[in-house]
Amino acid sequence: MCQGNIQHPAPLDEGTIAVEQARLADLLSADEHRVTAPRLAIYEVLLRANDHICVEHILSALAKDHALLRIDKSTVYRTLDLLMDLDLVSEMRHADGSAQYELTLHGPHGHLLCNQCGRVQDVPLAELLAIQQRIGRDHGFRVDLHDRALPGICAACQEGHAA
Ligand SMILES: [Zn+2]
Ligand SMILES: [Zn+2]
Ligand SMILES: [Zn+2]
Repeated sequence: MCQGNIQHPAPLDEGTIAVEQARLADLLSADEHRVTAPRLAIYEVLLRANDHICVEHILSALAKDHALLRIDKSTVYRTLDLLMDLDLVSEMRHADGSAQYELTLHGPHGHLLCNQCGRVQDVPLAELLAIQQRIGRDHGFRVDLHDRALPGICAACQEGHAA
């Protein structure tokens, strides 16, 4: 499983979660998709996590909080594709092929990825683009900002006390 966010984002409040659940139902109906319990449950897991989480994390949260729905892995993948089509969720795919999913609710941003503990830190997209532009301008080299993410070692790992 992945390790989530270095910044440990605060959970969303119940009001926001309810508003987002209603927004999902509206978007599904508008696009002629059925509003199903598994679709609502999977989005709810992402809303409650309010972090960058992998499919294994989603499955364990579903088994804990929505066990009666018996949602399998292929349903999770299909539903994530649908949530991405609806622009509610975005995917961050790593060089090793693993992926994490997060809400689009917080707007576009970049990521710093720790190679050691695997955690993620959100950074303003403008900061990553500024690095890319400066190197492009000074060296004529186009930095490949794979999925808007820069790999490295986080501050805690550098100090040898990662959680
Ligand atoms: Zn995970
Ligand atoms: Zn780290
Ligand atoms: Zn993020």
